[in-house]
Amino acid sequence: MASLRFLGAAGMVSGSRHLVENGGVRVLFDCGLFQGEKQLRERNWERFAVPADSIDAVVLTHGHIDHSGWLPRLVREGFKGTIHTSPATADLLGLLLYDSAKCQEEDAVYANRKGYSKHRPALPLYDERDVDRTLRLVRAVNRREWFEPARGVRCRFHDAGHMLGSSFVETEVAVAGGVRRIVFSGDVGRYDAPLYNDPASPPPCDYLVCESTYGDRDHPPARPLDELETVTKEAIARGGMMLVASFAIGRCQQLVYLLRTLMAAGRLPELPVWIDSPMAVDAMEVFRRHGDEHDFSEAKLQGVAESLASPWVRMARTANESKAINACKGPGIVIASSGMMNGGRILHHLAQRLPDPSTTVLVAGFQAIGTRGRSLIDGAKYLRIHGRDIPVKAAVRRVDALSGHADRREIGRWLAGMPAPRRTFLVHGEPPAARGMADYLRETRGWEVQIPAIGDTVEVEA
Ligand SMILES: [Zn+2]
Repeated sequence: MASLRFLGAAGMVSGSRHLVENGGVRVLFDCGLFQGEKQLRERNWERFAVPADSIDAVVLTHGHIDHSGWLPRLVREGFKGTIHTSPATADLLGLLLYDSAKCQEEDAVYANRKGYSKHRPALPLYDERDVDRTLRLVRAVNRREWFEPARGVRCRFHDAGHMLGSSFVETEVAVAGGVRRIVFSGDVGRYDAPLYNDPASPPPCDYLVCESTYGDRDHPPARPLDELETVTKEAIARGGMMLVASFAIGRCQQLVYLLRTLMAAGRLPELPVWIDSPMAVDAMEVFRRHGDEHDFSEAKLQGVAESLASPWVRMARTANESKAINACKGPGIVIASSGMMNGGRILHHLAQRLPDPSTTVLVAGFQAIGTRGRSLIDGAKYLRIHGRDIPVKAAVRRVDALSGHADRREIGRWLAGMPAPRRTFLVHGEPPAARGMADYLRETRGWEVQIPAIGDTVEVEA
């Protein structure tokens, strides 16, 4: 008997983990870190639902930490199989996982120094050695090429247009009555997004496991340049720094590219932009190597590369270079991770500048419940950072046009050519978003849609 088990991103947006079992083999689709509220983060410390060494293979849709960030822990628990992913994701994974390990080690050190962790001593979830071992298991597979992660399960990747290397997975499971097809959406990107291809069309399937991050909203027509121009001009008028919490790979390059476009057109004055992330700089090389995978016309890619080399872009690789930014007054822009403000260098900038009313904080991506980014959008008066309550006097602005996730209408467009699957499962959405998407698919398509809970298992019927 074949089954599909939901082990994460069920009722929340992080911790993507879906397990397919078939005749004694186990294949895990994504292996994400839980992020956000404390009770979610604590799940990262729980043992995996099945023994890690009983899993034959992992199939990874993309590099974002909420899809990949638990892999080193799975390896620490004994996983020894192959991790299949696209060539670009395979390249990015090293950058991402070492960075994640470093963040966790730094957080643990910081927590021990300041004594604010419950755990004494506070330990990292995994370290660089676990990442070394993880990367040795990675195998790159080209898009649209079939591969067999385990006996009776075959898969192929298609471009999801969500970030460099991102894919959705077409999976065929051999059962008594023939073959059943499951599509795992991973994260679905947007149409006409700067630097990315539109998502490829998904094939017909029996079971669909689809994300629903923005399932309860339709983004206003995306005009990222106009929106970015408006908030940046406001930030300049306010006089202080504009802090942009951004994932170092993808959104950071997109932002620099858009800022360059605005400055070149005279729509913004040239102002200093600090990229406070060594990873963002290293990622450029990976972008260049995989130009063919994305909507990188040579001019666009050249544009990003040039912008990174132009005098108004300043790189902070080392911790000291990062600290030196503290002495700079605005106007200017600081781009630092993490994107949801749950760790990384952005925290130091927020701690210093949030109490200053001349500061602007630009929120450019999805902010999960329980993250500092979400608290800011929701109008928090104080933000707890490194054990201290920091007063929020800065202006907080949000630009949804820069989001990397399809909204409800775009998911509808992505699924437009698909005949009704036998069953559709909505994952990777907070409850109102998942319900919004479910209602939409029931009303517009008449589909049978379910929102699974963590631990739910469904039979893949013959
Ligand atoms: Zn993602």
